[in-house]
Amino acid sequence: MAEPADTYYRATVDAREPFPPLSGRHDARVAIVGGGYAGLNLALGLAERGVRDVMLLERETIGHGASGRNGGFVFAGYSLGEQSLLDQLGRQRARALYANTVDAVNLIRSRITRYAIECDAVDAGVIWANWFRDPHILRERQQLLAEHYGVQWEWWPRERVREAIASERYSDALFERNALHLHPLKYVTGLARAAAEQGVSIHEHSGARRVQRENAGWCIRTESGEVHAPIIVLACGGYLAHLKREVDRAVLPIATYVMATEPLGERMRECLRTQAAVYDTRFAFDYYRALKDTRLLWGGRISVRDRSPKAVQKLLVRDLLRVFPQLKGVRIDYAWSGLMSYARHQMPQLGTRGDGLWWMQAFGGHGAAPTAAAGELLAGAIAQGDEGWREFARYGLSRSFRPLGYLGAQAGYWWAQGRDWLKESMEG
Ligand SMILES: Cc1cc2nc3c(=O)[nH]c(=O)nc-3n(C[C@H](O)[C@H](O)[C@H](O)COP(=O)(O)OP(=O)(O)OC[C@H]3O[C@@H](n4cnc5c(N)ncnc54)[C@H](O)[C@@H]3O)c2cc1C
Repeated sequence: MAEPADTYYRATVDAREPFPPLSGRHDARVAIVGGGYAGLNLALGLAERGVRDVMLLERETIGHGASGRNGGFVFAGYSLGEQSLLDQLGRQRARALYANTVDAVNLIRSRITRYAIECDAVDAGVIWANWFRDPHILRERQQLLAEHYGVQWEWWPRERVREAIASERYSDALFERNALHLHPLKYVTGLARAAAEQGVSIHEHSGARRVQRENAGWCIRTESGEVHAPIIVLACGGYLAHLKREVDRAVLPIATYVMATEPLGERMRECLRTQAAVYDTRFAFDYYRALKDTRLLWGGRISVRDRSPKAVQKLLVRDLLRVFPQLKGVRIDYAWSGLMSYARHQMPQLGTRGDGLWWMQAFGGHGAAPTAAAGELLAGAIAQGDEGWREFARYGLSRSFRPLGYLGAQAGYWWAQGRDWLKESMEG
């Protein structure tokens, strides 16, 4: 088996001028650490609100982390399920938090248009395909969303699912119309360009090495420069900044895997006859979608281990052939992994200590819309003193107890996988 190349996204993003590394001493009003969806949504949100002197530091290149290697799904909601959100917050607050992410999906659409971000966006919805025969899973979620969140997902019977997905695996499905998919690295690079055009000073290859309290503000040092700012924001996801222990130790970096096939051409119709993206009802679900050049992008699995491209390919091809045996022998051109940041409570962590240090992290495997929502909330807080971010106060920096937390996460994953396997076996 030949070694598949690095990410499809990196291979297909347009070449651009790099942002220069930070050099020398600078003052800023706000300094953001991390050039992923979270940091850039905040930077752009601040610029759009007229905040000047915003600086963003990225250790590698823009989108190096989860934001430049994810599945590309953009849909409402959080890693924490809607029923748990309802149980924990009550109807009104749960609905308001969920609505933030619905607005965020619309914001992403409007920014793509407004800033002419070429990111292969396909606004064709997402299919949640039922792996099991039990129809209640779909009906219950559909009802919950309609009743408590005011959101309508369309139910598709088996025949309708078959028209879209040529697989015997699924029974029925729910179709979420208000969702899209895109090339995440092109999108995050577009956010960076839009922010830079509005005056945000962006620096790549500028890892923050130290953060120190200084007079009434903060000083961040990189290898070749320093920035002084009254407000700093840590937005480093699962790629841990190693700057503040209490912030780092509140998340577990968890790996997940993606691959892209060779271009399928007409063969694409042998498996997918829809432009919508697809995932399924298991805890450890597959997710996939057709790419612009007729490749199939396929993702899945959750692990505490960051595997080699070859190992990722081996695992995912097995999963792919369970759904589309007709693709046996298909060549895999790219395989990669990425790190998500999970909090124990499975919700994003947005907050501040009240001394100018803010954080936004733990978006888990469901980050595209929540990072855009979080960027708006924190931009509103910093620029205008808005209090909306306090709705997340309940989901604070709870400790993830690494390395023991990894054992818990892996055990939880295996347990859920086992439960799904049992359900499948009992259905026969
Ligand atoms: C394989 C995969 C598939 C996924 N699929 C989807 C999907 O389809 N839909 C969806 O909604 N979500 C998905 N997610 C989740 C989503 O990608 C994340 O929730 C989101 O990208 C998190 O953004 P972030 O900015 O918090 O973190 P990241 O994108 O990880 O960015 C953090 C950045 O901080 C930088 N950094 C770290 N330390 C420092 C430092 N000291 N100084 C400077 N910079 C630093 C890193 O280099 C990195 O670029 C997926 C995630 C993965 C890994």
